[in-house]
Amino acid sequence: MNTHLRFGMHRDTEVIRDICDKIDGLVIPAHILAYQSAPTSVFVASMSKPYFIDPMTFIFQNPKENNLNEAGNLRMSIRKLCQTYGNNLESIIEHKSNGQTMQPTDIADIGKFCKEVCEFQCKSIEEKSSSSKAAKYIKRYGKVHANLPRLIIPPYFRFNSVTDVWYAFNLACAFESAKLIKDIPLGIIIHCSVNILDASTIKKIASDYSNYKSIIIWLDDFNELAADVTQIINARKIISTLSKQSKVETLYGGYLLIENNRDGLDALSHGILYGQHKSFNLTPGAGGMAERYYIPKFHSFRSLSQTDIILHKHKELMCNCVICNEMMKGDPDKIILFADEPEKLRQHFMTVRKTEVERIGTISLSNEVADLRQVFNTYHSSISRLPNPDAVVSGHTMNGLNYLQTWAKGIEQNLD
Ligand SMILES: [Zn+2]
Repeated sequence: MNTHLRFGMHRDTEVIRDICDKIDGLVIPAHILAYQSAPTSVFVASMSKPYFIDPMTFIFQNPKENNLNEAGNLRMSIRKLCQTYGNNLESIIEHKSNGQTMQPTDIADIGKFCKEVCEFQCKSIEEKSSSSKAAKYIKRYGKVHANLPRLIIPPYFRFNSVTDVWYAFNLACAFESAKLIKDIPLGIIIHCSVNILDASTIKKIASDYSNYKSIIIWLDDFNELAADVTQIINARKIISTLSKQSKVETLYGGYLLIENNRDGLDALSHGILYGQHKSFNLTPGAGGMAERYYIPKFHSFRSLSQTDIILHKHKELMCNCVICNEMMKGDPDKIILFADEPEKLRQHFMTVRKTEVERIGTISLSNEVADLRQVFNTYHSSISRLPNPDAVVSGHTMNGLNYLQTWAKGIEQNLD
């Protein structure tokens, strides 16, 4: 199973270089590439990792106010993306009233729209990384020129059902893009809520996309810590069904989706410390997230102060990765040192993630389910009175380690 890192901020580039051997590839959001094109292109070219560019077209579907800055103007990265894709998008988005959203009928020429979105992915990194200044920089990392993306992603939008106009529009975009792009495989992004994935919807999606060999699923706002058994099973079912005909990846995901490797999931992508799940209507790049520590046995993040309490109660939960051994030297008091070196939080998480992904291929389902239950039984009552670590992030309710029980139940069920 492969892990792809979703690029988020330029301040993370040095950390990403440090953990380069922990990832199999990169996902580059198009609005960052459009807005900070030279540094982003140079970074991607110098990394020599397989990558694809997420065209981020769902942004245009959001209510106008989500795309505005504090002064009430289009955020610069969104404006740049509109300009990059042409097709009058800037004016379409700008002239909507608050609360109004773009409709498929606003795109006058779907062929031209697909052409702009796909060509940007084919050309931008190569073009921007070939200036003499950029070339010199890239050479420092032992690279000569940029690789082409491993997949080209047709424009995609979130749909609420298979009868939604956006569902039909997505299919048309995939069809048009396939006519244009011959040399690089297409990667189709399926973006919807896990709650709509009943048997007939999954069947329809599988039938409509049966000609596409690479599918990337984005389960909108799928918070693994708050997921119920039905949602877990729906997620497993779409992955299992589509993986019989295509290679299936997910665009976001944490440990629960890693478990879906058993159902045919080939790869997952996520951010370096955030972005294990994401909702379409959160404005990209808005606001930072509090620094969090990933507790390996819990397969989830906790604030540093909570981690402090937990590790003092249960010293055996201390991580023994290279980063943590060096930082903490077996002393839970030293967790506070991560506050001064947040890049180490990222290195620790990516190191642990790599071992989680490698382990999934080696452990049987029954042993895994037993492990999840054992961690729940050992630690739940001790930590369940601590404040909900996820509350600020998502507003979901969560109680201690109950999610581990739910995961165990969801993954041990037979899908048939
Ligand atoms: Zn660690």
